[in-house]
Amino acid sequence: MNKRLSWSLVIAVLGFFIAFSIFTSVYRGDKPTVVTAEALAEETGNASLNGQISDPGGKEITLYGFEWGNTPSLGEEAICQDSPDENKSFIVSINDLQPGTTYYFQAFAVNSKGSGYGDIKTFTVPIDAAPTVTISSPEDNLSIFSGEIVKIAAEAADDKKVESMGLYVNDSSAASVEGDALTYDWDTSGISPGEYVLKVSADDGTQEESKLITVLVEEKPEVINLAANDQQPVIKETYTESIPVSRSVEATDTYKYPNLSKVQGSFGQFYYRDTSGGRIEIDPGWIAENIVTITLPGLNRKVQVHKDAADNFIAAFNYIKNGTTWINGKQVSLLSLIDSMDGTFVTRHVNWDSARGLSNHSWGIAIDINADDHYRYVDPNTEPYDPNLILWEKAFKPAGFSWGNSYSDSMHFELLY
Ligand SMILES: [Zn+2]
Repeated sequence: MNKRLSWSLVIAVLGFFIAFSIFTSVYRGDKPTVVTAEALAEETGNASLNGQISDPGGKEITLYGFEWGNTPSLGEEAICQDSPDENKSFIVSINDLQPGTTYYFQAFAVNSKGSGYGDIKTFTVPIDAAPTVTISSPEDNLSIFSGEIVKIAAEAADDKKVESMGLYVNDSSAASVEGDALTYDWDTSGISPGEYVLKVSADDGTQEESKLITVLVEEKPEVINLAANDQQPVIKETYTESIPVSRSVEATDTYKYPNLSKVQGSFGQFYYRDTSGGRIEIDPGWIAENIVTITLPGLNRKVQVHKDAADNFIAAFNYIKNGTTWINGKQVSLLSLIDSMDGTFVTRHVNWDSARGLSNHSWGIAIDINADDHYRYVDPNTEPYDPNLILWEKAFKPAGFSWGNSYSDSMHFELLY
């Protein structure tokens, strides 16, 4: 082999290697391999799109990010500005998205060999639920008399958090609280009768929701005519049994009924005699003229009362029959507060003690309610839900009665005229 031939061979081989390396440097390599990961979308309309360049394809990545849109044909581009990092995920945030809408997205990366794409994935922007408001007290269309206190209690719930609640009476703010529970005692003293719209609202920071109820405030009625309104006949009973009846105090057999009672206001006085155990027997003539039998509304029990007290008794029990009250956020009927009722017309001395004066029960102008646990004083401050206190305020007081609580006899309601 001559020298010239071997040099030619060396140059040819070298040339081949140079050409090959130029070829590989230009043509070797591939498009990037890209993975589309999950997206994280928020109710605010922002979403973070996640992707990963798992193989840059041996070339420099010149552009990467996501294509996205609200249809599978995408159409929008979100480019990542950071320098790409192989096998590390990248995130691009997009915003102004529509809550409740489903979006499509796809990660991509570009090198000199072309564009690589991940799968098309989807996400739906969650909807921020508005708070829900529940008014647990009072019930809608409650009707009260002006002067009563309306216990308002409301709660709110939200998919995130209830920030605040507010109470409006006919659109003017009455109370506001932070958090998801609102209670308020609405004092209706001095407000004009009419229909009031109570609105309770709750705010979760982005949305507000409210609930309305209506309360009818009525003028406190005059008590005395209620019996007539109820159209209840007052039955007058005569006592004809075995005792010969004399019809007036003057004609009374004062030999048989030697004692004369005091004058009990407009309810008058009577002759009587003492019997046993603190009892008395009253001149039947006075009873015939003054004591009538009525049926107490609500209780539907017949009782004997003084004829001039009948209207008040009927008025009180009409309040009880129709009224409700709020105890610990629960609405209960006034009627349910009565466990027992005793003694309207009972002819006796105070405490069944003949040494003491005559009980007002002898005139048929008093009634005892819930005697079992009410021969005592009720402290309105410590026992605001005592049944007799509530009955006093909502029935007997508006019907013109006095309450024995001042002398520690909270079972006893009486008329003093
Ligand atoms: Zn009594």
